[in-house]
Amino acid sequence: MISVAIDGPAGAGKSSLSRKVAEHFGFIYVDTGALYRTVGLMFAQHGADTELNCNIEEILALTKVEMKFVNGEQRVFLNGEDVSEKIRTPEASMMASAVSAKPEVRAFLLEMQREMAKNNNVVMDGRDIGTVVLPNAEIKIYLTASVEDRAKRRYDELIAKGQEVTFQDVCEDMIKRDYNDMNRATAPLKQADDAVLADTTGFRFEDSLNLLINIVEKGIEAIK
Ligand code: C5P
Repeated sequence: MISVAIDGPAGAGKSSLSRKVAEHFGFIYVDTGALYRTVGLMFAQHGADTELNCNIEEILALTKVEMKFVNGEQRVFLNGEDVSEKIRTPEASMMASAVSAKPEVRAFLLEMQREMAKNNNVVMDGRDIGTVVLPNAEIKIYLTASVEDRAKRRYDELIAKGQEVTFQDVCEDMIKRDYNDMNRATAPLKQADDAVLADTTGFRFEDSLNLLINIVEKGIEAIK
């Protein structure tokens, strides 16, 4: 099995690019952010805010997260309910960032991610895939871009989905989330020593995609 790990900060285009890269190579695309968002939603439904003044173990014991692939598309389920759309709000992003700093939550989701990569060729994106989840991934990419570029992409995405947000709010949320993700004690976001850096500042989508496909092709060539 071949694993491609793609990590990087919010709004770097990880999910849309990873999906396309997976399609290109006939691999399964696994969006691990969706798992943290689902846990975040569960905590929000139990009245928690981003401070998480709640009994984490107790809520986790009531939480069942499942990933299913429908027509090749990943869907996430929370206690049997498909929450794939519900988890895409700015509030869900902040809750995901909050719960993801908790070691209990990271441990809760770890095996599920490893299991996927054990049984399939995957392109898996997240924050700690190359460093913690799949440290032996054959190909590792750290995908980033300037904060302005990333905030602009995320803003356009949310507006296209009909959400009412301002550019400034999106930008501030992103800076806060990156800070949380990079500075938490457990599995912080950082470039793995053996990851290839892909900085797509100023790139069009197609250029970023070509860059990633190139990196993966070279990686596959190298292990043949
Ligand atoms: O990638 P996405 O923006 O959907 O991730 C939502 C949040 O989940 C991130 O801000 C991060 O805090 C957390 N996350 C994580 N580790 C991963 C994937 C996501 O901590 N592998």
